[in-house]
Amino acid sequence: MWRFRELLPVEGEPVSLGEPRTPLLTVPKLSKRLGVETYLKDDGPLPGGTFKARGAGIGLSRAQELGVDRVVMPSAGNAGGAWSLYGARAGMHITVTMAESAPAANQTEVEAAGGELVLIRGTIADAAARAREIADETGAFLSATFSEPYRLEGKKTCWLEVFDALGDENGMRLPRTIVLPVGGGVAAIAAAKAAEEVIALGWTSDPPPRLVGVQSNGCCPIVRAFDAGADEVEPWDGEAMTIAAGLRVPAPSEGDLVLKYIRESGGRMVAVNERAIVDAVWDLASTEGVFACPEGAATVAGASILAEVGDLQGPVVLYNTGSGVKYVEALKAFG
Ligand SMILES: *Cc1c(COP(=O)(O)O)cnc(C)c1O
Repeated sequence: MWRFRELLPVEGEPVSLGEPRTPLLTVPKLSKRLGVETYLKDDGPLPGGTFKARGAGIGLSRAQELGVDRVVMPSAGNAGGAWSLYGARAGMHITVTMAESAPAANQTEVEAAGGELVLIRGTIADAAARAREIADETGAFLSATFSEPYRLEGKKTCWLEVFDALGDENGMRLPRTIVLPVGGGVAAIAAAKAAEEVIALGWTSDPPPRLVGVQSNGCCPIVRAFDAGADEVEPWDGEAMTIAAGLRVPAPSEGDLVLKYIRESGGRMVAVNERAIVDAVWDLASTEGVFACPEGAATVAGASILAEVGDLQGPVVLYNTGSGVKYVEALKAFG
């Protein structure tokens, strides 16, 4: 991801764990089924097994060069894990507030990396409130979703890699459609920003891609607002229930902005059910050899819905945000 450092805010020596440029895979069987040219961007090989490494690597590097030595953040799971790992590397104190229901894999990851884990009885919203209090009490830097601009910059690198991999000697190429899971929505806005920047730089003559955001129908506040034609995202009222832990975000802090970016791209939001998400995990692993996280596999279910109604234009890039390996217990329990 540091290959694109001219487009990143970090000036000095970055905190790096040797992040690989992740594969953009052809998925021939899936392409055939969806009826359009389809690729899978697989961020499973990143440190900690998810794309949160991109946000953590750039966010923490920037925080360090601004003199921050202590960070606190709420997390649905993977962000806390990634920041703890990069924090260990940098020698920075990381406090992570998490709902008790957050995956055991993430709780263990934070503790193994020497992060301070604060478990909260409640939702990610309660964890966020506690993180703000800890920031006030201790002077730690609050690195919640969208509370600082640098995590987004990190998540942008995924799309620079994709546009580059699709391109040729004449420049970058943008897909017609990007299908990605939406929790807080940083990944979605990062995709839009990456496209905006390479177009402004004249690195491509393609139009910006259509963004399709996927949520689980067990927690889909942004889908609900999209379908209602609303400009504002109301918090999800029920229990946020989904195996895709990264999508358990009942009150996304910048939901309105995410909705605006999705609409302006000419794209849409789509909800998928839990059975379809789990089936898609098995499907991707058994047909294409990729053991995806449920959040990433949800894009296959979402793309299938769009393809059925003739609303999927290729080339399409599906975004697998992490490895299924972190979810084996939950997948096994689901059956
Ligand atoms: C955090 C996370 C998401 C959601 O990403 P946002 O940028 O918050 O929308 C998706 N998948 C995984 C694996 C995650 O950890």
